[in-house]
Amino acid sequence: MDGFREAIDTCRLRDMGFKGNWFTWQRGVSGFLASEEWCTQFPNAEVIHLPIYKSDHAPILLKATVGGGEWRRDRAFYFEAHWLSNSECEKIVERTWKDYCTEPVHARIGKRIKEKEWKLKQRENGDNEAWRVIWSIEGPPKLKHFLWRGCKGGLAVMERLYKRHIVQSMECRVCGAEVESVIHSLFECHYAKEIWRSSMVADIITRAPSSSMGDILVWVRERVEKKEMGCFGALCWAAWHCRNTHIF
Ligand SMILES: [Zn+2]
Repeated sequence: MDGFREAIDTCRLRDMGFKGNWFTWQRGVSGFLASEEWCTQFPNAEVIHLPIYKSDHAPILLKATVGGGEWRRDRAFYFEAHWLSNSECEKIVERTWKDYCTEPVHARIGKRIKEKEWKLKQRENGDNEAWRVIWSIEGPPKLKHFLWRGCKGGLAVMERLYKRHIVQSMECRVCGAEVESVIHSLFECHYAKEIWRSSMVADIITRAPSSSMGDILVWVRERVEKKEMGCFGALCWAAWHCRNTHIF
């Protein structure tokens, strides 16, 4: 058994866990071991212990589809039950805990909650401001909807398609820039630059923040008349239209 555990550690295999009958696990058969690479390729894989039927062996089902579902930016932490069988386990946990936790746990958790709260509040305020600017624009609902999608990251730029495993690269197909974000396609790419250069807001756009589409909208609105915002929105749409015509 020690040799088996050693082989698992050497090959950096992970017990995939299971759903279903606890009894099968108690008998020492949990199902599948997988490498990190395999888990990355099949992030939604599941091991299911099916009910025993006309046999004393329980069938084990491995469900795995390539990609699928939402992109998980951070890998989840899994606790391996067999770690407990190592006599050093308790000491390692205790030592690591002491090394990393110099302040009381409740203080750390409180701080994290406050940070998250603050970030959410900031995002909400930004969204509210952008929302107000967009809906005060004099223009067709289609234009407002387009701008709102831009603010919420809903435009199908390469960055978004890549994160959803639809394309292999985030590269801009118009100018070859490394990442085609919403900001890139509407303000920084070839066509977009040409459009903004000959517009009445050329100066304002060159000084605008590049943090988010919402920030740009709010920034521009603070510097132009309300009636000019319709034109600004239309130019954003024109940049998007040029990009799509080029690609498709
Ligand atoms: Zn580009």
